[in-house]
Amino acid sequence: MWGRRAEALLRVWGLWPTWVPGRRPVGCNAASQARSNSPRCWNCGGDSGGPVQGDVFFCPQCRALQPPDPTRDYFSIMDCNRSFRVDTMKLQHRYQQLQRLVHPDFFGQRSQTEKDFSEKHSTLVNDAYKTLLAPLSRGLYLLKLRGIEISEGTDYEMDKQFLMEIMEINEKLAEAQSEAAMNEIESIVAVKQKECIDNASRAFEQDDFEKAKGILTKMRYFSNIEEKVKLKKIPL
Ligand SMILES: [Zn+2]
Repeated sequence: MWGRRAEALLRVWGLWPTWVPGRRPVGCNAASQARSNSPRCWNCGGDSGGPVQGDVFFCPQCRALQPPDPTRDYFSIMDCNRSFRVDTMKLQHRYQQLQRLVHPDFFGQRSQTEKDFSEKHSTLVNDAYKTLLAPLSRGLYLLKLRGIEISEGTDYEMDKQFLMEIMEINEKLAEAQSEAAMNEIESIVAVKQKECIDNASRAFEQDDFEKAKGILTKMRYFSNIEEKVKLKKIPL
């Protein structure tokens, strides 16, 4: 049932080569032969008939699910430009498209190797989606791809005025007793985050990664406050 539906969907997305005869030879010693970046199929040994680029989830010859390609980053997996600005609607559609292809639920009747690959694909797609969806994690990931990491405890690098601002918001939160007071803090932080996102967009567009790093560090402080507000809102 699923097989036919998957085939139809693959055709629609242009991921299924229509000339393929639907025979699947039995693989032996499959896992040990699995080479993630090899264009050869782990199952039948067939090659993809050219340089592998983009989405090659299934062998065009035997239809076996192939392992994830370790050379692809999250942006490539999610078919997005490597940029701070992403179309979140497009991201969501892509996420659904990929999960319809690789989710372990669809591999219950397949070999253990394919089950394992589908788990790996699915986890990777989840991580890629979550990372690129939220501006803070997306920005941090972009910096990581450039070899820039923000370590914990960077307080001493922050300007005093900003740290005072954070302290004041934290104090306000500590004193907040009503839902209204907490909502107010939330909206203050939301405005700050919006400002940061706009500034980070500009910094990334200008390839000013040091500036982006500073802005993302600030965003992390605001995210911490957002988390604290959420926790405080949960009735004890
Ligand atoms: Zn194959």
